[in-house]
Amino acid sequence: MSGGLLDVPRVRLGTLPTPLQPAPRLSDALGVEIWLKRDDLTGLGLGGNKVRGLEYLLADALAQGADCLVTGGGPQSNWAMLAALAARTRGLDTTLVTFGSPPPQGPVGNHALAVLAGATLHFTGDDDRSSVDRGVDAVCADLRAQGRRPYGVHRGGATGVGALGYVAAGLELAEQLQENGSRPRSLWLATGSCGTHAGLAAAHAWLRPGYDVVGVTVSRPAEECRERVRRIADDAAAILGTPAQPGPPTVLDGFLGTAKGRRSPAGDEAASLVARTEGVFLDPVFAAKAMAGLLASLRGETDVAVAGPVVFLVTGGAPTLFTA
Ligand SMILES: *Cc1c(COP(=O)(O)O)cnc(C)c1O
Repeated sequence: MSGGLLDVPRVRLGTLPTPLQPAPRLSDALGVEIWLKRDDLTGLGLGGNKVRGLEYLLADALAQGADCLVTGGGPQSNWAMLAALAARTRGLDTTLVTFGSPPPQGPVGNHALAVLAGATLHFTGDDDRSSVDRGVDAVCADLRAQGRRPYGVHRGGATGVGALGYVAAGLELAEQLQENGSRPRSLWLATGSCGTHAGLAAAHAWLRPGYDVVGVTVSRPAEECRERVRRIADDAAAILGTPAQPGPPTVLDGFLGTAKGRRSPAGDEAASLVARTEGVFLDPVFAAKAMAGLLASLRGETDVAVAGPVVFLVTGGAPTLFTA
């Protein structure tokens, strides 16, 4: 079953498989059976979903003979910090391109951890997030001119190669569900740069697992997410030679709050419920907002009908518990 995937180069960074845990007290509170897929426990650094994609991206970088990694995001990017940390485990230096200017209070949260990991930080001076991807390309060009061999990755690692991490996670989950005999009808997650959703969508098209994948967008408009998920899932499927997604992905809008990267009242309430019932912390800007979307949908307040049992993907982001 996993043949195509086994042929793709991969470095081992994570402690996998992550647990798939029943959430009995949360299930009682919500009146639907909930399972938590604990990708906050992937192991590298403080864990998180980005570790899975980095196993394939870093392998690709090494296969191409790269001698450094260039990527970026916001100062609190879980992706950028974990990319820098992962690269160090294989001896590569990292330059992180961050939008805006250095925060006056100095480095905190992921920014501080990236500094600790030895990343070189480069601020674009432009508050527009898209300045990061242009900055990554520019830094790569400079490094090449100096005779270096950079591997550049745009925000979130959301590429066909990066999405392979969540194709593998889809296989991992299928095995766990087979072992414990549960048959979820939906898998919920936070959708940001869309690589995670895309990998799960590609796994879904391949494995036909009997559950729907529902992403709750926490940054981009839903329509943009659907296009991105579809494109990245198709790229991943093309690498593996597996079927493409038949229909448009399901993306739920309305839980962003005031802005990407800022906590929201609905998200905080959802995170508090999960902490109080299951002893699991959801990060305030991704997973908490996705859980808020699930809770609202269970109350019939969105146009996504919740099919249970539900698997909720806990995507990590521990460093932002203290900063967002
Ligand atoms: C990046 C991230 C997500 C979203 O994943 P994408 O692949 O960017 O869509 C969700 N949760 C956390 C904690 C993240 O860091």
